[in-house]
Amino acid sequence: MERVYNFNPGPATLPLEVLEEARDRFMEFGGMSILEISHRSSAFSDIMDEAARNLVVELMGLPKNYRVLFLQGGASIHFAMVPMNLLATSADYAITGHWSKRALGEAGHVGKTNVVYTAEERGFKATPKAGELNVNANADYLHITTNNTIFGTEYRDIPDAGDVPIVADMSSDILSQRIDASRMGLIYAGAQKNLGPSGVSLVIIREDLLERTPRDIPPILTYKAHAKKNSLLNTPPVFAIFCLGLVLKWLKKSGGIEAIEKTNREKAALIYEVLDASGFYTPHADHDSRSIMNITFTLPSAELTEKFVADAEQQRLVGLKGHRSVGGIRASVYNAFPVEGVRKLAAFMKEFERNS
Ligand SMILES: *Cc1c(COP(=O)(O)O)cnc(C)c1O
Repeated sequence: MERVYNFNPGPATLPLEVLEEARDRFMEFGGMSILEISHRSSAFSDIMDEAARNLVVELMGLPKNYRVLFLQGGASIHFAMVPMNLLATSADYAITGHWSKRALGEAGHVGKTNVVYTAEERGFKATPKAGELNVNANADYLHITTNNTIFGTEYRDIPDAGDVPIVADMSSDILSQRIDASRMGLIYAGAQKNLGPSGVSLVIIREDLLERTPRDIPPILTYKAHAKKNSLLNTPPVFAIFCLGLVLKWLKKSGGIEAIEKTNREKAALIYEVLDASGFYTPHADHDSRSIMNITFTLPSAELTEKFVADAEQQRLVGLKGHRSVGGIRASVYNAFPVEGVRKLAAFMKEFERNS
């Protein structure tokens, strides 16, 4: 099979060597396949321990007082679980795109929310800069979406929220660049962008927040109950966690966060350079809010956009169609997306502009 360059936003491309390792080890679990082993087996606890306690902690540089959990329900379950567990009085939300709106919507079913920033009137082209977020000092938490997958924006800096814990949806930029995790109260991420296949979400939570759960909610929906049982409160997605562990191992072997961040910045720059030199393509995001994971831009017409997507596919560049709310093109270039594919897209873009 010849692989295409897969720019899909999620599920997204995975490192070829991870897929090959998953294939090669698939049947190798003591006369069983990975799909058949018990989640209580030592083989699986080794897999989960390695992924959670060693690789996530090491790669993210987590302080001792953080717990790592693997849960189900995607990133979206945390839109609801976060307020159920942490919202006692009111919570602040910074609205920077589709997913933060969804998070706000779910929280509205649980308790009182305040929108402390929104980029909606400006078409979600921006993220808040220093001083633009007025966090309420007595908020239970501030919720942010560090990378806005659909609009192609990201935070430059983690906002200053004082003593208010920051809850960050990092589904589309987790482990893509160095962040100071000690500034965060809770991080969550669906795996299918930067960590592995769909079916599992990663949660990193500061231990003191486990004690905050304000009302009698079902244990299955509390972080504390999951932490107490080391993510084995019920059957976890064994295969997804196995693959996630392989992705983390690959990331470590590739040089860890510093190395991948450098590559990610180089990859994104190759496309942004084409956009900035062009009178044909219009970048969607403000310059100072540009994402290095999802690069969004528009063309002069819907017809040209369609032709761009079709011609790109001919060259094995797939998954480039933008989200319907932005239109245009979105190139998702997560950690596992190879630099050759980005070079090929940049060359294709220049040629398409010349011929149009
Ligand atoms: C994809 C995405 C989600 C939704 O993830 P699910 O796992 O489908 O629930 C949430 N937030 C962000 C930032 C995303 O990119």
